[in-house]
Amino acid sequence: MVILNDIYWGESAPVAKYDQHKFAEFAALSPRELEQECRDQHGRLKHIIRAEHFDLDFLRTICETADAARSVAKMEDKFMKSLLTAKSVLNYFKQPSSRTFLSFSMAEAHLGMRREEVRDLKTSSEVKGESEKDSLRTASSYFDAIVCRHPSDIYDLFAVWVMKSSNRELPFVNAGSGKSEHPTQAALDYYTDWRWFNGDLDNKVFAYVGDCKRGRTIHSGAKLMALHKDTTIYFVAPEELQIDPETERYLQERDAKVIKETNGLASVVPLAHKIYMTRIQDEHGGKAEYDPNFIFRKEFLATMRPDAILEHPMPKREEIDPAIDYIKDDPRIKHWEEQRNGMWGRVALLAYLFDADADIRCRYEKIKSIGAGLRDN
Ligand code: ASP
Repeated sequence: MVILNDIYWGESAPVAKYDQHKFAEFAALSPRELEQECRDQHGRLKHIIRAEHFDLDFLRTICETADAARSVAKMEDKFMKSLLTAKSVLNYFKQPSSRTFLSFSMAEAHLGMRREEVRDLKTSSEVKGESEKDSLRTASSYFDAIVCRHPSDIYDLFAVWVMKSSNRELPFVNAGSGKSEHPTQAALDYYTDWRWFNGDLDNKVFAYVGDCKRGRTIHSGAKLMALHKDTTIYFVAPEELQIDPETERYLQERDAKVIKETNGLASVVPLAHKIYMTRIQDEHGGKAEYDPNFIFRKEFLATMRPDAILEHPMPKREEIDPAIDYIKDDPRIKHWEEQRNGMWGRVALLAYLFDADADIRCRYEKIKSIGAGLRDN
């Protein structure tokens, strides 16, 4: 049984060695070459695997499509549900998930897609010794896209390699790969910011709090903020959970100012336009105890900027004061709304992958022009 990088390469060592050798050639691509492999001949993304492949135009498209979709679905649900009826998708979740799984599933339903799921690995041929390469390739025989969550940090790369090794290259969506990336969460967090700041995300201070070292939502999310001008990013965590050197270097190379705060959250609260809380990612080992100095306390609402927002990718534990969940009249508290935004953000991503995003935006403009009473859904 061969497991490398948390990927199961099958029962046969010689076959695993052969496949790993082929994969190593693909994995040697430069970041730029990999990005090219993830785009079609018109430059559109055909695989959503890494936040570093997103640019501001793409993000604006996603945000505008998500906004349009939630209104169109309210007014003309039939139209929305007719868009991708000919398309099918497999939700292939090899790691626990509630929000990402459900929001993808509902996003697919909003677009009329046929959808299936694999979540229980006991039902998989991998128990018969089939490699993950063959399982994924088999799955790709039946669908038009695959949305996947996996414990391996490099599963995104692996999956694109598998797609490219076949004659049937399906769009692959990374719904969370190990500790490394969660690009669709980053896109939906960005959408939440974009709505709150009316698209103006330059010259802002963002604070990422909690497990900065292993939090894939932080790794992906911070990279998007660095696309903007005059960005300052605080990583607020004890030394042992501080941001990894690769992510820090990536941000600095893009001119974001990076500040590491290891004493606690209180001093950063008044400075930040966004405070992004995360839990300890103890599924990767280590202790689960959250240092109380990094809890977002109810009192912080008084020192927080009036135009700032509080987010959390969820699930949460003790890192946000429980009293905050019962406050209904402070619009800066966004972690519940963020989840609903996630569904619409994923509608937009899937529509983009199948070239239906412009249809949604056009329909929205048309409904607006006839003066129908549009409302958010
Ligand atoms: N739901 C997010 C993720 O899958 C955050 C978390 O699990 O803490 O990474």
